[in-house]
Amino acid sequence: MSVAPETMQGPELELSIVVPIFNEEGNIERLHRELTAALTELGRDYEVIAINDGSQDRSYESLNAVQARDDRWHIIHFRRNFGQTAAMAAGFDAARGEVVVTIDADLQNDPRDIGKILKKFAEGYDIVSGWRQNRKESLFLRRIPSMIANWLISRSTGIKLHDYGCTLKAYHFDVVKGVRLYGELHRFIPALASQMGVRVAEVPVVDRARRWGSSKYGFSRTFKVILDLIVVVFVLSYFGRPLYVFGAAGFLVGGIGTLLGAYLTIFKLLTENKIGDRPLLQLAALLMVLGVQFISTGIVADMIMRTYHESQRKPIYFIRERRRSEAVEAVAELERV
Ligand code: UDP
Ligand code: MG
Repeated sequence: MSVAPETMQGPELELSIVVPIFNEEGNIERLHRELTAALTELGRDYEVIAINDGSQDRSYESLNAVQARDDRWHIIHFRRNFGQTAAMAAGFDAARGEVVVTIDADLQNDPRDIGKILKKFAEGYDIVSGWRQNRKESLFLRRIPSMIANWLISRSTGIKLHDYGCTLKAYHFDVVKGVRLYGELHRFIPALASQMGVRVAEVPVVDRARRWGSSKYGFSRTFKVILDLIVVVFVLSYFGRPLYVFGAAGFLVGGIGTLLGAYLTIFKLLTENKIGDRPLLQLAALLMVLGVQFISTGIVADMIMRTYHESQRKPIYFIRERRRSEAVEAVAELERV
């Protein structure tokens, strides 16, 4: 797996569980019980990071009560509701585990499936995604939109998963530290991380009905997901140099315009016919202007990308492993502090 950039610290324990929580007071005690049982059985050294995403019910009290009894739990209370993606991003920032597992608080995923996911992970994958079997949600509002979304995302990103929407997923430490999230992007992590060169696998997991409370999303999520998909595809395909995309379009369109213009010029010179009233002339002028527009848009986009990379110190490469002498390593370590 890619080693994190030099400035980043490595994992400190085996496993982090990240749970976003928005108005789930009735699920928290049970979540604690089921997670503890499943994780104790696995015998791993773990932490649970629960992010209270501005809940308006008693999730605050309930989470603090759990934390008071169990110091493996780490609670982050947001000031207001920032959304599931933001909650997961906060969990990723805080995570210290070599493997980071995300799970919903409503127990639609069964914590006992974590063992299955980790087993697959140990075969050498960087992301292992749950694939919900026998889904319990409504066919028209949920399952069909989700099938279409999975097909579209798989096709357009090249990372073929049956169930992008399943929150139960495991990521390598470097993956969660390497992707920046916003919007509804959490479901695209496998696609975004494909840029890093990750190995991705899927395991079937059970889907249960929500234990308590109701879903936080309606049908409108579908549109957000589609818009995010467009961004993801663009980011994945043209991230490095947008100028190449816009430039190619510019050359093509501008080239056609120039050829048309040349044809009209020669035509006029040879035949002495008027060309001022020909629609083709307008088309030629339009295409030439468009070509210039495309290229200049590309240059601007390229400059934006440059600022983006430089301001966020985004790496343009990802290293799987590094080997060097201990002496050199010690010096690098000193420079870091
Ligand atoms: N969630 C959150 N912030 C939000 C909406 C949801 O933290 O603004 C959490 C929610 O508490 C749950 C998970 O994200 O743990 C998934 O939400 P939900 O179960 O409502 O989604 P669904 O399973 O219906 O897709
Ligand atoms: Mg749910």
